[in-house]
Amino acid sequence: MTNENRKPIMAGNWKMNINHLEAIAYVNKTAYMLTEKDYDRTDVTIFPPFTDLRSVQTIVDADHLQITYGAQEISAFDSGAYTGEISGAMLNKLRVKYALIGHSERRAYHHETDENVNAKVKAAIKHDLIPMIAIGETLEVRQAGNAVEHTLSQLVGALKDIRSNYVGNAVIAYEPVWAIGTGEVATPQDAQDMSIKIREKIASLYSKEVADKIRILYGGSVKAGNVKAIMEQPDVDGALIGGAALDPDEFVRIIRWPDQP
Ligand code: PEP
Repeated sequence: MTNENRKPIMAGNWKMNINHLEAIAYVNKTAYMLTEKDYDRTDVTIFPPFTDLRSVQTIVDADHLQITYGAQEISAFDSGAYTGEISGAMLNKLRVKYALIGHSERRAYHHETDENVNAKVKAAIKHDLIPMIAIGETLEVRQAGNAVEHTLSQLVGALKDIRSNYVGNAVIAYEPVWAIGTGEVATPQDAQDMSIKIREKIASLYSKEVADKIRILYGGSVKAGNVKAIMEQPDVDGALIGGAALDPDEFVRIIRWPDQP
């Protein structure tokens, strides 16, 4: 079971789905279903598209909801001639809590490198956002036996020159690329094995205290039917959920992972 010093997080990554009107309905429905017990057990966060963030903020603030929200991306730059980019300062103004950085879709379709990821982690920290850093190997890398080496090198690249007090508060999402949106979930043991490697690496780069504090999520085809076994792994502190989080009923079932059979 997840370490009692680390509160689990269930994070829904909406990707390029759900417009701002649908987001309002989604948040209202989810908030209506969730109880104090749910929030006591698990932190709940959503990553809507940028165009939804203001609407989500308005409902969360007005109803004092305990749901938090993050941005799916962040610019490495503070302001200026960067057409299409959104800065950390802008996200901070919308009381965004997390910035998702290094998602495999960004790495694959937008050619983001570890250097880009590192610059964005620094931008998030600068603007008081918590970086949620996604790392993980492709199928080819896993089949070649290099999954751990590859994933840890992404970790080291993302955290370059980041001071330990920020690392403890950050979140790492281990997402094997072959399991994202494919229905092909890693085994709970795969998730645990990589999470422990990540934690050991953080202990060697920083300290055992930092490694014990940082939350490590698993992502890749998580749903209500498989979440409990994944969450029972001692080094897995939550999940980053794509497809299954688009349905508020399913997302709430995932948030209630201890109650799943
Ligand atoms: C994701 O987008 O981070 C993800 C894990 O997607 P899915 O749950 O659909 O595999």
